[in-house]
Amino acid sequence: MSEEPLLITDVQARVVAELARIAPVTEELGRRFAAAGEEIALVGGPVRDAMLGRLHNDLDFTTSARPEVTERLLKGWAEAIWDIGREFGTIGCRRGEWQVEITTYRSEAYDPESRKPAVQYGDSLVGDLARRDFTVNSMALVLPEQRLEDPFTGVVDLAHRVLRTPGRPEDSFSDDPLRMMRAARFAAQLGFTVAPEVVAAMTGMAERISIVSAERVRDELVKLLVAPDPVRGLRLLVETGLAEQVLPELPALALERDEHFRHKDVYEHTLTVLEQSIDLEDRLGGGPDFVSRFAALMHDVGKPRTRRFADDGVVTFHHHDVVGAKLTRKRMQALKFPKDQIDAVSMLVELHLRFHGYGSGEWTDSAVRRYVRDAGDQLERLHILTRADCTTRNQRKADRLRRTYDDLEERIARLSEAEELASIRPDLDGNQIMEILGIGPGREVGEAYRFLLELRLDNGPMSEEDATRALLDWSAAR
Ligand code: ATP
Ligand code: MG
Repeated sequence: MSEEPLLITDVQARVVAELARIAPVTEELGRRFAAAGEEIALVGGPVRDAMLGRLHNDLDFTTSARPEVTERLLKGWAEAIWDIGREFGTIGCRRGEWQVEITTYRSEAYDPESRKPAVQYGDSLVGDLARRDFTVNSMALVLPEQRLEDPFTGVVDLAHRVLRTPGRPEDSFSDDPLRMMRAARFAAQLGFTVAPEVVAAMTGMAERISIVSAERVRDELVKLLVAPDPVRGLRLLVETGLAEQVLPELPALALERDEHFRHKDVYEHTLTVLEQSIDLEDRLGGGPDFVSRFAALMHDVGKPRTRRFADDGVVTFHHHDVVGAKLTRKRMQALKFPKDQIDAVSMLVELHLRFHGYGSGEWTDSAVRRYVRDAGDQLERLHILTRADCTTRNQRKADRLRRTYDDLEERIARLSEAEELASIRPDLDGNQIMEILGIGPGREVGEAYRFLLELRLDNGPMSEEDATRALLDWSAAR
């Protein structure tokens, strides 16, 4: 991302082009609200993004109209209308490809003791802009005339690619400490720098983030991670002490240097792994991938706790994969992540070292099957993480590891074709087991099932006769 200031002529040209594109929406909304004697303006993200030439199809508006009036004015134009949160004064609607959110002017007062903003309707556009987080987000385009309302000179900050608060950052962050996380998120998303006084306020007030709900913190963390430059945002979180509050496992990695500075700083290694895994993300075919990125970020968090110095000065981190998976699960639970994401990320952390037992291809087919089976539907992400986890500067070593992993993937492909590895079941199902052994449901069926599954993993597919014989032998031997 470029660090050059933007040219105001470029900004202007982009705005003109983007406004022409969204004219069908802005003209009609401007007309309808004006006819009803209400004010309406495009506001926040879309104004900023129009100037940056990155406007998408989500359009946010702010209005003098109360939600019930907004709803009435949208009828007959919008194809669908819904209530995003009447208590927050927001009505959502869709028209063609456009997703629109219209919020009544606010003047928010935050109760510093509570976790939720106390919302009050405001009575002016400038009042509404003043309570916003950053000057680049505090611009509005008043409709229908398309007049720029920019009381905090956000356009200047945008041209300099800098994040600044409309008022004193300390006051803004007292009102809502989440804005400190949002600064890091926008730095990652837009490639902007954060103004020094804002960084200073973040540093001084970092522990205030603890009054914010886990869900709000999590949502900003996710947006930061799936942004184009998450490392930029993460460094800021660590440098200001915010990470110590919301993701303490990350700054803990920075201490990971022995007294002789002999092994690599695990923190820097981790950020490099994250960047390398982003470079491999195309393999997933779906744009930025939170699970893959978070797994890269967390893969070594077990290292601080497992570090041991041997007498000869060698450092080891035995079982840091298992310990790291547990820490990851705990952290994600505290941040209220959904269970499927917690399971996926912690499993990737747990499996990230497995490949290193592959040597130069010594695994048996059985070991390859287990690798695939244990990774389950996360196999593609495990490929990415394992490949990204090589940050050696020794090019020959890096090439060797890459070729070895290529070899493993080829073997998986060959075996899968033959056996559909991902859906491995024992060769007999529970009903057949009960019939063959002449038993009813119970513990023994489960044990027999697991025995047959092990056998299946060790040997590959068996015929029904062979499996039956093996089952009977197993039963007789007990
Ligand atoms: P994105 O492209 O990620 O949606 P955005 O700027 O639209 O970026 P949102 O989180 O959708 O970000 O918020 C919409 C607007 O509301 C922001 O541009 C900002 O003006 C304002 N805003 C949102 N959250 C806060 C907050 N916690 N404090 C102050 N203003 C906020
Ligand atoms: Mg938005």
